[in-house]
Amino acid sequence: MSFHKIIEFLTQLAPLSGLNPEEVKLLSTPQNVLTAEITVGSKTYSAYRVQFNNARGPYKGGIRYHPEVNLDEVKSLAFWMTLKTAVADIPLGGGKGGVKVNPKELSIAELEELSRGYVRAFYKYLGPQQDIPAPDVYTTAQIMAWMVDEYEQLTGTKSPGMITGKPLELGGSLVRDIATALGGVYVLEEAVKKIGLSEKTVCVQGFGNAGMNVAKLLYAKGYKILGVSDSKGGVYDLRGLEIDRLIEIKEQTGSVVNYSKGLQITNEELLSSKCAILIPSALSEVITADNADQIKAKLILELANGPTTLEADKILHQRGILVLPDILANAGGVTVSYFEWVQNNQNESWTEEQVKTKLKEKMISAFSKLWASYSNNKLDFRTNTYIYALKQVIAAERSRR
Ligand code: NAD
Repeated sequence: MSFHKIIEFLTQLAPLSGLNPEEVKLLSTPQNVLTAEITVGSKTYSAYRVQFNNARGPYKGGIRYHPEVNLDEVKSLAFWMTLKTAVADIPLGGGKGGVKVNPKELSIAELEELSRGYVRAFYKYLGPQQDIPAPDVYTTAQIMAWMVDEYEQLTGTKSPGMITGKPLELGGSLVRDIATALGGVYVLEEAVKKIGLSEKTVCVQGFGNAGMNVAKLLYAKGYKILGVSDSKGGVYDLRGLEIDRLIEIKEQTGSVVNYSKGLQITNEELLSSKCAILIPSALSEVITADNADQIKAKLILELANGPTTLEADKILHQRGILVLPDILANAGGVTVSYFEWVQNNQNESWTEEQVKTKLKEKMISAFSKLWASYSNNKLDFRTNTYIYALKQVIAAERSRR
């Protein structure tokens, strides 16, 4: 969503959230916008770090490497992170970073140089108590390892808590790799109980970290995965897809479309295919006013960031489809990032069971609070969630004055 649209949206929600015009201005203005040009070999790349709001704690948010990264997008994502950490009720603020680059065109050595260059550009503004980045689209645990190493060399400290999503041997947390999907599953199961959904059939758009893991986790729990897709297209089978086989095929051939047992479908068809639960887990703005009336699912779990436009959201609400919005549905990722930071700060290492138990508690607690207020008012679940988050952030701002 463009940053301009975010301000419009914030202005609409202001009366419902009890924000005065000054507070709207405060929440529509990033606290720090940092930019740099990073040179690697003969090329220069634009890099950004937006520190949106830290009223509730140090800035937190991933770094994205993508050819379409731009400052407007990074600001929007940093705003959403501010709301996401508030919904998850973790003591962190919101930020986001990005580099306009196609990492697939870089050698490993160039990727390392770029990642270390990013830290050299912004390290004075980063740190365990200032701003804690993490992986995002096309950034990995290895990139986090280079970044923490560069930071520690520049500052002469040991600071594993300056970044999350690290490899385990550098202080990463168990469960971080599946955290987004697992957090989504905890929320989904609560919602299924609340609305009494008996049909457990699922379609998943996207088969990467979020999509593949959610398909795997739900399949293991007995849900029937009818359709999945990736950038090349999708497959659908009313008898249910064999997820273990699909994962092998994705790993061996690069795409789920090479699964031979189901019907070949497009990404557009996947969204409107018959299923009870739809899980967009790839791109933003895929459910729009043009296709919202064709969606057959009763429940949508937004593991992707911003997969539904605001216009589409209204249509879905009118049609009685419950949407579990991104800032709740995919908050498992940042929640386990927070756990990683806590472990680093306390020099601790939690077991897989400990992390899963704490994640479950956090996700169910967030859902239950939101469900209670949703049941008491006439707003749709997304609006209700955003209002809750805005109130949390503004309460912290007000306490500081
Ligand atoms: P990823 O790179 O691991 O996977 C992305 C998947 O989307 C791939 O399977 C890719 O083939 C597919 N894809 C790309 N273009 C597509 C298209 N046109 N149609 C259908 N599928 C397409 O990324 P990820 O980490 O799984 O992130 C996916 C979404 O989840 C993003 O919106 C991201 O912001 C969001 N998210 C991820 C995390 C996380 O921890 N991974 C946390 C919060 C939000």
